[in-house]
Amino acid sequence: MHSNLFNQFFRIQTCLLTLLCCVFAGCVWVPTGHESAVVTRAQMQMGTVVKITAVARSESIAQGAATAGFAEIHRLEELLSTWIPTSELSRVNTSAGVMPVSVSPETMTVVQGAIQVAEMTNGGFNIAIGPVVDAWNVIENRRIPTESKLEDLRSLVNLNAVHTDAQKQTIYLEKTGMRIDVGGIGKGYAADQAVMAMKKAGAVAGVVALSGDIKTFGRLPGGRKFPVGIQHPRKEGEVLVFIDLEDEAISTAGDYERFFERDGVRYHHILDPRTLQPARSCQSVTVVAREGIWADGFDTGIFVMGVELGMQLVEALPDVEAIIVDHEGVVHVSSGLRDRIRKP
Ligand code: ADP
Ligand code: MG
Repeated sequence: MHSNLFNQFFRIQTCLLTLLCCVFAGCVWVPTGHESAVVTRAQMQMGTVVKITAVARSESIAQGAATAGFAEIHRLEELLSTWIPTSELSRVNTSAGVMPVSVSPETMTVVQGAIQVAEMTNGGFNIAIGPVVDAWNVIENRRIPTESKLEDLRSLVNLNAVHTDAQKQTIYLEKTGMRIDVGGIGKGYAADQAVMAMKKAGAVAGVVALSGDIKTFGRLPGGRKFPVGIQHPRKEGEVLVFIDLEDEAISTAGDYERFFERDGVRYHHILDPRTLQPARSCQSVTVVAREGIWADGFDTGIFVMGVELGMQLVEALPDVEAIIVDHEGVVHVSSGLRDRIRKP
C-alpha cells in the first residue's frame, strides 16, 4: 500500500529536478527542434513527471496522440498503483491469504513479465519484496529496520507463493501479509502502452518518458534518432553518456534517486531480496531493450545481480544492452552499445 513508486515526496523531488536541471531521474530527453507537428507536454502521473513528445502530420493529430498517451498511463495507474486502494493490485494485496482476485490482461501481463524477469535475474528482481519496501520506506521514514523485523518478513518475499492463473485471469498471494510491488517494472510497461495508444491516434514518432523510463518510436522530423542522456549517478544534473534511440526503450535504476545517508552509508530504494538490505553492487544500471517492460524490469534486477552476472545476462540476450556503473564508479558498457554511446 505504501509503494515508493507513488511516493508523495518523490513527486516533489522529481518535479524540482525537472524544473531545475531538466533531468528526468535517470535519463534526459534533449529537444532538437520546433517543427509544427512536434508537440511536447508534461504532467504528473504514477508519482513522477511524465513527458510525452508526439510527432504527427499536423499539430492537432500530435496533440491528440499526446492526450491518448497520458490517458493510457492514467488507465494503467488505476490498475497498478498500490497507492490507490481500489486498484487491482491493491485488491490482490489485501486479498493475500484469502482468495484469488480477477485482474485485467494488463495487470496479468505486468505480473507475469515480472515473474519472467525474476527467473532470468536469479531472483534479483522480485515483486514479492513489497513488505520489505514498506519496512524501509526509504524517503518518508529514513529509518533502518532492525534485523529481526526484516527476518520476520523474509517468508513473505516468496515468488513461489504468487499464483497467476492465465485461464481464469486471477492472481492469488498465498500468505497473509504478502504484497506485490511493481514499482520496478510498471513504468516501463506504461511507456510501452502509451506508445501504442499514440500510434493508434496517428503519431508517426514520439517519446514517452516516465522519469527514467523512456520509450521511443520512429525518428524526429529531419530524420534524427531521439537522443537521450544518461544521468551521472554521482554528479547531479550531469550526463554520463548520450545515446540515440529508434524504436527502443531505455530505463535507469540508480541508488541516487531515493536515498538517505547514515554514518556514511547510503540507504536507497533498490533492495536485495537475499539480504533484504539496499543492493550494494552498483551505482546505476541503464538497460536498452525493445520494450520498456524489459528495460525497466532488467535495470532493477541487474542492479541487484551486480556487474559480472548482470553483463553475462545482457550479453546472452538479443536486443538487450546495458551501461552499468559499478559500486566503485567504473562504467561498464555491453558490446552492442560500445559504438553507440557519445561522451557529453
Ligand atoms: P524507479 O524508476 O521508480 O526508481 P526502479 O526501476 O529503479 O524504479 O525500481 C525501484 C523500485 O522497485 C523500488 O522503489 C521498489 O518499489 C521496487 N523494488 C525494490 N527492490 C526491488 C527488487 N529487488 N525487485 C523488484 N522490485 C524492487
Ligand atoms: Mg526498474
